[in-house]
Amino acid sequence: MSAASEAAAAAGRYRPPSPGRPRSITVLGATGSIGRSTLALVAERPDLYRIEALTAHRNAAVLAALARRHRARLAVVADPAAYRELADALAGSGIEAAAGEPSLVEAAARPAEWVMAGIVGMAGLAPTLAAVERGAIVAIANKEPLVSAGPLVLKTARRSGAVLLPVDSEHNAIFQALADNPLAAVERLVLTASGGPFRTWSLERMARATPEQAVAHPTWSMGAKISVDSATLMNKGLEIIEAQRLFGVREEKIEVVIHPQSIIHGLVAFEDGSCLAQLGAPDMRIPIAHALGWPGRLATGAPRLDLVAVGRLDFEPPDFSRFPALELARCALRRGGAAPTILNAANEVAVAAFLARRIGFLDIVRTVASVLESLPDAPVGSLEAVLACDREARRLAGARIEGGPPVGRRRER
Ligand code: NDP
Repeated sequence: MSAASEAAAAAGRYRPPSPGRPRSITVLGATGSIGRSTLALVAERPDLYRIEALTAHRNAAVLAALARRHRARLAVVADPAAYRELADALAGSGIEAAAGEPSLVEAAARPAEWVMAGIVGMAGLAPTLAAVERGAIVAIANKEPLVSAGPLVLKTARRSGAVLLPVDSEHNAIFQALADNPLAAVERLVLTASGGPFRTWSLERMARATPEQAVAHPTWSMGAKISVDSATLMNKGLEIIEAQRLFGVREEKIEVVIHPQSIIHGLVAFEDGSCLAQLGAPDMRIPIAHALGWPGRLATGAPRLDLVAVGRLDFEPPDFSRFPALELARCALRRGGAAPTILNAANEVAVAAFLARRIGFLDIVRTVASVLESLPDAPVGSLEAVLACDREARRLAGARIEGGPPVGRRRER
């Protein structure tokens, strides 16, 4: 059974939140785009939710304000240097303050029924695993741990009985479209992609792209890292791997279609010729609401889809020559073993270097390709092994970025 079919099968064991039985929740990455959207929905229905813990990296002021507004029991910053600011801002509130990575893991381990995994990058792995280990309902926005340590996360969930709910809009759409249909009847899963801000740009123009241009996503409002991933289409590559992890289908059954309006989020094609899709305005509150209300539905004020106003829906194939990240991610998935871990780690380092203006836009995927080519396969069955492989890929990506070639032509600007 796939993680998604296990979640569908588990639906009968859970009750949706109700005023008589509010759901206790923890939001990892509460100050981010996903975290704030989650809390905006919670604020609409305070009778249905009680906040156990909220976490951030170092944005203590915003975290403290969110913790006070939502009457959290615990607020944690991962960076110990931000502890004093957090503790001062929470003084007299009765809300516990803590800092450091072990505290982040402890926050996730506290007994909240539902956890939003909304941290960006591999920093989310340890706390997400802590929530999975104790058998929580875990809403997965933070895709990098699933890409990098997928087999480990899935094995842990199977052992603990944790329910993994896909929040990424494409995977949430597919989860909804699959419902309780048999996986054996699925011919293809289709992930749609907006194409990002450089969909129509030439390679020459992309070589000069700035971080500001890369994060200006045409349809979604998101954090900086995923916005850059959407511009390279590495995000869609990571999503192919994420889909394989969640739905347990073979890589060649996962298709990507460019759909600039971002109205159809994902689609399942069945062997009888039927296709089921999920549609909605491009607003993350919609998939998050689905996970918050699961196994029921949550009424929200999220934007409604007006098909007449949208007017038309366009589709085109991806251009693999301008966006090689897609094929690179597929290769990593086919190679298996440590390759997705290496791909993800090198990408995180390269995206950070691009955002810091240390490399050009096209160097991001060149760096990932170069690191992927250089590192041998390694077993990644345990947490220690994943982290060792992740560290080595980060070290090599950093060295390639510092050392210039063989990453390729640098700084075309
Ligand atoms: P943001 O950058 O907006 O927020 C990231 C959050 O993680 C913040 O709360 C940040 O805290 C925290 N954080 C960052 N680094 C660390 C760290 N080292 N340790 C602990 N916490 C950390 O990201 P998004 O909300 O855009 O994305 C979150 C995840 O969800 C990503 O994996 C992304 O791919 C995925 N996702 C996001 C979508 C979106 O629409 N935004 C859509 C689909 C998936 P602080 O504020 O203190 O820095």
